[in-house]
Formats: sequence, structure tokens, C-alpha cells
Amino acid sequence: MEPGRLFSDPTAAPIPSQQGAWRLGRPDPVEALARLRTGNIRFASGASHPGGGVPRPYAVVVGCVDPRVPVEAVFGQGFGAICVVRSAGHVLDRAVLGSVEFAVTDLQVSLVVVLGHEDCRAVAAANEAVRTGRRPAGARQFLIDQIAPAVPAAGPAGSSLDEVTRSHIRRTVATLRHADHLREALAAHRIDVVGGIYQLESGRIEIL
Ligand SMILES: [Zn+2]
Repeated sequence: MEPGRLFSDPTAAPIPSQQGAWRLGRPDPVEALARLRTGNIRFASGASHPGGGVPRPYAVVVGCVDPRVPVEAVFGQGFGAICVVRSAGHVLDRAVLGSVEFAVTDLQVSLVVVLGHEDCRAVAAANEAVRTGRRPAGARQFLIDQIAPAVPAAGPAGSSLDEVTRSHIRRTVATLRHADHLREALAAHRIDVVGGIYQLESGRIEIL
């Protein structure tokens, strides 16, 4: 998919033809899998491969699928330190919520982090959808509908993407803080739930 076009054109074909993908300089599915397998062989034979003996995780991070924000890397964490759940725009559904609860109750992490980021295309798509009244087709609609409440009903210019992103992060944190198992763990001071925003240029994460 083209950058910035994740959700913005509801009439666009969801999957480009292999030929089209080649024309855009992207690998076809066979080449894509070959690259991943080659990468895994390199990884498995490398010195950094830690084997099984890893420490218990101490945090779970709910982040966006955006490949510019690899969660372990931007927090400087290695194997075994953090659990990561990712969805476009760090949107919560039952699978994501269940995964966070699993990290808290079964793996006993002590911190839940919602990690949003600058220039989030899922948030931008929701911002756009609210302004234009055009919702994308298919399951992407669910994503838009979860982010849309963070878009204030302002004038035609709307809010800046940064404002909407911060609002969406805070709302996601609030939802997690009220989730059943997390609420209990919070009340017992076993965990905290915080939000952060990753800045693409500086690499810095601002905790909100
Ligand atoms: Zn994003």
C-alpha cells in the first residue's frame, strides 16, 4: 500500500496485483517470504540469538503496526523484557485487551504502556473520515470507529493530527485503566497504565 493511503481511499482495490506491486518496486509474495526466511536463518545463526533462558517480562506495550515504530527497538529492550501487542492505531479490541490482561495476570508485568506515534496513518484516516463523513469499507471501519471519538467536533479545519493522536492515546489509556482485571491490579498498586508518543525524527518517547 502507498504511504498515507492505508485508509484514505475507500474505493481503492484492497490488494494490488502482483504485477502492480512489482511496478511499485515491492517484492511479490514469494520474494517477500524468501526474504523473511533468509533473515531468520541469519538471525538463528547469529551471536545475538539468546536461546531459551530469558528473564520474565516486566511491561506490556500496546503499539501501532507502523513499521517505523519497532517497539522493542525504540525502548532499547532485548529479548524477554517486554510483551508487545500491536494493532493499527493501537486500537483495542477483545483480542488486544485479552492479551494485555494475559500479560498482567499470567506473566505479571507491572507496567502497561500505550505507545502512539507521530504521523500515525490510522489516526490520520480517522481524522479524515470524521471531517469528510466517508468511512472506509471492510474491517478498517472498526479501526476508524474506535479512533473517531478522539477527533473533536471542531470546525471544518479540524484538530491537528498531533492533538488527535494525543487525545486517542489518553482515551486508550483510560479504557485500559477501566478494564476489569486491570482496574483491580491498578487498585492494588500492582501495575500502572501510562501513555507515550514516539517522535519519528528524534526517536524520543514523550510520556503523557
Ligand atoms: Zn500508527
